[in-house]
Formats: sequence, C-alpha cells, structure tokens
Amino acid sequence: MKTYDVIIIGCGAAGMMAAMTAGQRGKKVLLLDHSDKVGEKIRISGGGRCNFTNINATYKNYLSQNPHFAISALAQYSQHDFIKLVESHGIEYHEKTLGQLFCDGSSKQIIDMLMNECKAARVEILLNCMVNEVKKNEGFVIKSNLSEFKSHSLIIATGGLSIPKLGSTDFGYRIAKQFGIKIVQTRPALVPLTFSDIDMPGYKGLSGVSLLAIVSYSGACFKESVLFTHRGLSGPAILQISSYIEKYADAEIKLNLTPDINLTEELASEDARKVKINNFLKSYLPNRFVDLWCDSAGYSKRIADFKQKDLQKIVYDLDSFKVKINGTEGYAKAEVTAGGVDTKELSSKTMEALKVPNLYFIGEVVDVTGWLGGYNFQWAWSSGFVAGSNC
Ligand SMILES: Cc1cc2nc3c(=O)[nH]c(=O)nc-3n(C[C@H](O)[C@H](O)[C@H](O)COP(=O)(O)OP(=O)(O)OC[C@H]3O[C@@H](n4cnc5c(N)ncnc54)[C@H](O)[C@@H]3O)c2cc1C
Repeated sequence: MKTYDVIIIGCGAAGMMAAMTAGQRGKKVLLLDHSDKVGEKIRISGGGRCNFTNINATYKNYLSQNPHFAISALAQYSQHDFIKLVESHGIEYHEKTLGQLFCDGSSKQIIDMLMNECKAARVEILLNCMVNEVKKNEGFVIKSNLSEFKSHSLIIATGGLSIPKLGSTDFGYRIAKQFGIKIVQTRPALVPLTFSDIDMPGYKGLSGVSLLAIVSYSGACFKESVLFTHRGLSGPAILQISSYIEKYADAEIKLNLTPDINLTEELASEDARKVKINNFLKSYLPNRFVDLWCDSAGYSKRIADFKQKDLQKIVYDLDSFKVKINGTEGYAKAEVTAGGVDTKELSSKTMEALKVPNLYFIGEVVDVTGWLGGYNFQWAWSSGFVAGSNC
C-alpha cells in the first residue's frame, strides 16, 4: 500500500492550494480527484477569466453560522498573498469593478499556475480516482477504484453541490457524517430567484430587461444590476441577496429601482409636469418595464393631473418595489453552496476537525460562503493554505 504524509481529496481551488503548500513544506502529498480534469470550476469561472480574488476581502464578505470563523485563515493568507503569487507567475490582471480582480487572459492561467506550483512541490496527482471508503486507525486508509492508499493526514476539499455536471458530489458531507461531524443544512446560493405568475402577473414577459437597483432582504442590501428572466430574477444584485434567503415560503425582496435619483424632486419639476407619467419614467427605467408597471397600475395621464398623494405612492412603489419569491433555480444554476461542515467542529486556525485529529475540511464544503466577486476563491486559497501549512 502506498503511503503519504497527506492525501487531499478534491483537485479544485482549495485542494490545489493545500497540496502545493504542504508539498513546499517537504510533505509527501497525493492529490486525487474522481474527475478526469483538474480545477473545472476555476476554468469556467468569471466568464472564462477567473475572478480570482477581491482586493477588499474581509471576513465581513462571508456568510456562516459563525461570522468570525474566516478571520484567522484570511489573516494567514490574504488576497495580497494570492496577488503576489499571481504576479510572480507573470499573469496579467485587471480590476473590473468593486475590487474584483480578473485575469487579462484566461482562467487557464490560474490552473496552470497552481499545477506548476504543485509540480515544483513534487505533489502526486491522480485523476479518475473514485474513493469508495475512508477508514481511520493510526492514520487514514483510502480505498479507491485504482488502489489503496495510506496517509497520516487527510484533507477533504470536495467542494459543494452546485453545478453537478462539473463533478460536484456530497462526498465531503458524507465523510463529515461518518466521523460524527455536524453539517449546517445546505442550500443553493449566488443563485437566480424565481417568482410565480400569480404573484407577479406579466413580469416573466420582461425576460432580458436589466436595470440598476438596490436590492434588500432582512438587513442585507446590494446595489448592482438586476436581470429579469423567463422564470424570475437574476443579475449580480439578485445572486448576492439570494445567499441571505434561508426559507422561501413568503420571502419578499425589496428593490429600489431609482437608486441614483430623487424621484420626488424630478416629478415636481416644471418640465416633468407637462409629460405623461409613462414617458417621464422611461427616462429612468427600461421601456418594457415602465409599460408593464404603468399598465398594471392603470397610470397613463400627465404628471400634472395626478394628486400629490398619488405621486407619493408612485415614488414609494418604485423605491420599494416588492417581489414575492417562491424559490431558486437550484444547484444546477447556483455558483456556490451555502451551509456545509459546521465551523464549530473545526479549528479556525488550522481547519482541522476538533474531534478527529489530522482530518481537515477546506473550501466550499465548509459552512463559509462568500459574496459574489472573487470572495469564494479567496476562501479556497486561504483555507487551503492554512490546512496545507498545518497538516
Ligand atoms: C459558474 C461558476 C462561476 C464561478 N465564478 C467564480 C469567480 O469568478 N470567483 C469566485 O471567487 N468564485 C467563483 N465561483 C465559485 C468557486 O468556483 C468555488 O467557490 C470554488 O471553486 C470552491 O473551491 P473548492 O476547491 O472548495 O471546490 P471545487 O472547486 O468545486 O473543487 C472540488 C473538487 O472536488 C472534486 N470532487 C468532488 N467530489 C469528489 C469525490 N467524491 N471524489 C473525488 N473528487 C471529488 C471535484 O471534481 C472538484 O475537482 C464560481 C462558481 C461557478 C459554479
């Protein structure tokens, strides 16, 4: 039986970072994956350009039952450390918006960088390897379709449940359960939301319309674009707020559709008063949205012909446009999985399971979920580094 210091299951962002870090410390490392390719989620990320980190990342950009859990890993390996690594490989990058860093070229550059680091650290990589059983006695014994392996430490980096066609499995959660480690209920996050025709009559017909809004739910709010789809809503602001919705029965999100103007003042101006309300609103909002919204409310007259209280209602309804949500597009469309291995079960300094020495969980399989914008990869790098430094 081949023996290693460390076996890492999952050759994604977190697994590769943990492998190269442990290898650089002189550990004998096996990195294995059931898929025939490495880093598939990195490859498709950021529209093919990989939004590999965010220059503003702090623990406040993460959701978890323990909101402070990410502090230690982010301090031990920050976005600046990853940026240094990217620069040392000569990879050109740019900030797109809101601190989000993307490769100028392609996300393959990030995969190649991690693979080169693993190679330099003499990490053994084994693909098409299905693990059938994990046992612990003195160390860990891993039985797979290819062979049996033994190791002192085991790192689980098998990610979450999103995009099953890219090789996602519930393996990490099953291993946690096998060792009596609690799981926080998982749910799709950074995911498009759906609504019903009964609650939002006609709005599915707006598919393709996009606008800037401040979207809020239960104390969280994001100002970014919103996109109507043929099933509900998507776009960055919606993906962000989706992570905060734990239960969909009667969930209602609020959209401020005129975030950058003082609508009350604009409606009161002399020029506006002569104009029909729908034509006026089309200066600020997409035509198709205005037509549907005005038709459903029965608004067609000139602004001067509205009573003051009706104008106040128009301002209120557009500043607090309510959408009753009935679900999400599920794991098939979710960028990440919220919930996962309970952080109470792990050391935040090492990512080691508190009740199972030498067993580590890193990356998305853990109950730490980042905002949209490079935060999830930063969590994978930080948690992977920490486990790789301590295993
Ligand atoms: C479309 C899309 C775009 C994204 N874009 C971004 C972005 O631009 N920026 C950002 O920060 N985040 C982005 N994310 C999120 C980011 O990809 C993940 O948070 C990150 O990849 C998680 O890293 P991980 O290593 O924990 O898991 P993963 O990258 O999912 O890696 C897990 C690995 O484990 C393997 N595996 C699973 N089960 C088994 C098993 N039973 N046996 C062996 N191997 C197994 C998988 O094949 C996979 O290789 C995006 C996600 C998606 C879906």
